[in-house]
Amino acid sequence: MRRERLDTMTGVLDLLDRGALDPGDVPPCREDRHNAVVFRPDSVQADNDTGRLAPFPGALKANIVHQGWPATCSSRLLENYISPFSATAVQRLEEAGARLTMVTAMDEFGMGSSCEYAATGPVTNPWCESRTPGGSSGGSAAAVAAGAAWFALGTDTGGSVRLPASFCGLVGFKPTWGRVSRHGLVPFASSLDSIGVLARSVADAALVMQNMMGQDPHDATSLAAPVQSLPGALGGGASGLKIGIPCDLLDSELQPAVGSCWRAVLSDLPGLGATVQEVRLPLARNGIGVYQILASAEAASNLARYDGSLYGLSRPAASYQRGVLATRAAGFGPEVKRRILWGTHVLAEGYRDELYLRARALRQDLTSQVLDCLKRVDVLALPTAPESAFPLGQRADDPRAMHASDVFTVPASLAGCPALSLPMGLDQNGLPLGLQLVGPPLGEGLLVRVGKALEDHLLFAAGKEMPWLPD
Ligand code: GLN
Repeated sequence: MRRERLDTMTGVLDLLDRGALDPGDVPPCREDRHNAVVFRPDSVQADNDTGRLAPFPGALKANIVHQGWPATCSSRLLENYISPFSATAVQRLEEAGARLTMVTAMDEFGMGSSCEYAATGPVTNPWCESRTPGGSSGGSAAAVAAGAAWFALGTDTGGSVRLPASFCGLVGFKPTWGRVSRHGLVPFASSLDSIGVLARSVADAALVMQNMMGQDPHDATSLAAPVQSLPGALGGGASGLKIGIPCDLLDSELQPAVGSCWRAVLSDLPGLGATVQEVRLPLARNGIGVYQILASAEAASNLARYDGSLYGLSRPAASYQRGVLATRAAGFGPEVKRRILWGTHVLAEGYRDELYLRARALRQDLTSQVLDCLKRVDVLALPTAPESAFPLGQRADDPRAMHASDVFTVPASLAGCPALSLPMGLDQNGLPLGLQLVGPPLGEGLLVRVGKALEDHLLFAAGKEMPWLPD
């Protein structure tokens, strides 16, 4: 008999629905001891006290705007920026009763994998304080893993929801590109950016995602397809499904514990009624290179708006040109400057064909490979990262090493596919490891269905609840 999960929203809701828990006994949130929460409003007016999400304080990443709140993107440049409006995703959640009560730190403008590039200082991992929570949504992940929030919104451009979920023992859910409106998300790389969810169970992530999806007149790239019920898909099980394993990508160096947990999951899948099938994604190994070129090019273009005249920091000087230089020199941190340099370089006359246009063509080919595979299997499965959380300080000055943790997450981003990371076990140091499922475009329902089946199985196999809330 499974113990009731008082640490998940859906577990608590289940008890409340059955009258087994008093609304006054919903466990309170804990303090943040990880430098994760950067803003709390004085008071939060609930739009709808009766919504399912109403009893559960949630967090927003600092690049998703909320009316009247700071949206700093953890940068000096937007340090004093207060948003005049709320993102569509935020508005929809609040209409559904969600109580967003805090804003979380991130790698500046979403660029990074460790949350060490936040202007407010590094965020620590609740499982081990000397390690990174992952990035760039590391503040959101640390807040949820430490019990400071029940769920958090993050953003995922190349893995920034899934990697922190993996490093912090959480579920991280990135929808199909365009499934959740990007209106009110500060852009980093527009052709890749997605708002996603960090939560403590697949059902919790599904509940939050359900309330954000759907077309939005404010975002011309949002998808028109009707929204299916994700909570309704949870009970489907994995029986009869084909799970594709991208073997060529998995030739990469895996930390031994990731390899052994991963092999255990593979051997468990037939027991759930699923068929495991090898698939080939030969171009996926080029994913990081392609991603770096395209994401930097888009970032350089998107960040051109910060010239000191419209938003945030302003350093007026004798001429407009000097003012722009002074503003950007003072306002951006080293990683953002590096991306702007890369992005400007790959778009420059003489390099554009060889770098930017070639990367775009490779992205198309990689996308075709991913979509072809997803015609032959229902979902792809692979580890979320080749490793567990790495020590703070280890990679902050080494962009190549920093990017290496994204090797398994960027293919789904480049192809625009939905992806879900869930905990698959712990390494020899007791640090969480993530398993990633990638679905076809609009396959969110399929992902929560397989994710829930695996989650139930892994919890059962562990013989106990996973220690979701480390002390
Ligand atoms: N780590 C990747 C980067 O630094 C992905 C970031 C993201 O998804 N926002 O670009």
